[in-house]
Amino acid sequence: MTEQSFRLTYSTMYDPPEELHTNFEAEVAKIKANLGNEFGMIIDNQDVFTDEKFEDHSPIDTEMVLGIFQEGGKKSADLAMASSRRAAKSWNKTPWQERVALVRAAANRINERVYELGAVISLEVGKNRMEALADAAETADLILYAADQMEENNGFVVKMGQDPLVGYTATNYSVLKPYGVWLVISPFNFPGALTGGPVGAALVAGNTVVMKPATDTSWTARIIAECFREVGFPDGVVNFVSGSGSTTGQALIDNPEVDGVTFTGSFDVGMKIFRQFANGEYPRPTILEMGGKNPAIISKNADLDRAAQGIFRSAFGLQGQKCSATSRVYVEEQVYEELAGKLEELTKNAVLDDPTKRSTFMGPVANKYAYQDFKTFTEELSQAGEFLVGGKVLTEGEYGKGYFCEPTIATDVPLDHRLWKQEMFLPITMLAKVKNLDDAMKEANDVAYGLTAGFYGNKEETQWFFENIEAGVTYANRPQGATTGAWPGFQPFGGWKGSGSSGKNAGGHYYVQLYMHEQINSVIK
Ligand code: NDP
Repeated sequence: MTEQSFRLTYSTMYDPPEELHTNFEAEVAKIKANLGNEFGMIIDNQDVFTDEKFEDHSPIDTEMVLGIFQEGGKKSADLAMASSRRAAKSWNKTPWQERVALVRAAANRINERVYELGAVISLEVGKNRMEALADAAETADLILYAADQMEENNGFVVKMGQDPLVGYTATNYSVLKPYGVWLVISPFNFPGALTGGPVGAALVAGNTVVMKPATDTSWTARIIAECFREVGFPDGVVNFVSGSGSTTGQALIDNPEVDGVTFTGSFDVGMKIFRQFANGEYPRPTILEMGGKNPAIISKNADLDRAAQGIFRSAFGLQGQKCSATSRVYVEEQVYEELAGKLEELTKNAVLDDPTKRSTFMGPVANKYAYQDFKTFTEELSQAGEFLVGGKVLTEGEYGKGYFCEPTIATDVPLDHRLWKQEMFLPITMLAKVKNLDDAMKEANDVAYGLTAGFYGNKEETQWFFENIEAGVTYANRPQGATTGAWPGFQPFGGWKGSGSSGKNAGGHYYVQLYMHEQINSVIK
């Protein structure tokens, strides 16, 4: 673990001191010198091993085995659920102030290990240095935000009105109470924030937790689980299970002990879980955070330098594998050529390399399936339209060891082509010329998703954009990212339509309440 004298936050991230780089590089070197260890699951605070294992490979160099993990299967899923149920009896009733204190201690522990976590995220996912560290820091911030919300709302104990009963004194309280046992299933692309965030909210609300990360990012989740164990969470309150989604994940979903679930991942898996839960004995909370097909709209009045910068960053940051990535751009015809030129210039100069290096903007895509998808989609797009830039995988020299794909901008693809509506989750964005802003808005909203959206234009147009766009997180005139870059407490994150089920955003005012149900305590003296 590397000592740090400053804290990585939303504001320090954009202009970090040199110390950030030296700390990160020291952690990468340390980790690379000690690869290939075996890691257990954590159930009842014990390391648990199974007969069946899997190797965690880096997408930067597929021969690099990062670690050996357990293929949990049904037996481990059931063990973890039973452990969570046992622990729920006392954790559910632990005063919220004690829960807040312990959850904060875990977030602080994550902050102490932030460089180690960032280095592992970079090697596991292929995220560049700053994106990886941001994911690690956001993990702690999301957890702290949930703790703060609990405290600011006095544990969600609210005194209600006194009934006008003559001759009696009545008192009424509304109390939010935990559901019991919460399951958290997380995706590969934000393995820190999207595992730790929901886990923190569920815990501070009083639920015990079983977490199952994506197979590709088991190491990141294991470190988060260690942080909870290290600060003294009681046995069984936080359990970590590894293994494939279709077996271990499904066994967890099937387990009757689950009182509520937070799933972040693809639309198809999310909807499958939603339908299965709908067929249960009674309704249980099902928080789903799913895919996106995020549009950016560019008015003829836009600052085109800002727009190009924002689109470039959001389309290709993390290799386009953000649920919030800009995957569609609608540009008013008067400024189409100029914007396309600026975007092409930025994209041609993007640095693709080992993402742990300081100068790298883009690393590899996550795994062989994403790499294959890139080849399939670019082949299809090459037949339907043109590439302004990109379109190929890189196989020369060091690139050949990993899953490197060129940042790709497709143009002249007919607006009725299926790829205008399907999430590709790759460094591919599509550019279209539109006659006016109304046409752009019609296209932007004509998808089953509604996660994020961006706009560049004047003040009146911006107001019109906010009033008409169907999405959970919307941005205007932002060079830092057209559709990406949300941070807890600033831009709470969640989606409409097929992008999310709860209608409330993580890292916001209404989130931690989703992990509790209301009880009214009414008493007559
Ligand atoms: P997947 O849906 O493939 O997987 C998500 C998680 O579900 C993984 O842990 C996976 O395990 C598990 N899983 C798969 N099948 C099942 C099953 N039958 N039962 C239970 N669990 C299962 O998504 P990705 O990991 O590929 O992540 C990318 C997707 O996530 C994109 O669609 C993206 O838009 C979305 N996303 C949404 C966000 C939001 O906030 N709205 C944020 C980030 C991503 P395994 O890895 O072992 O298959």
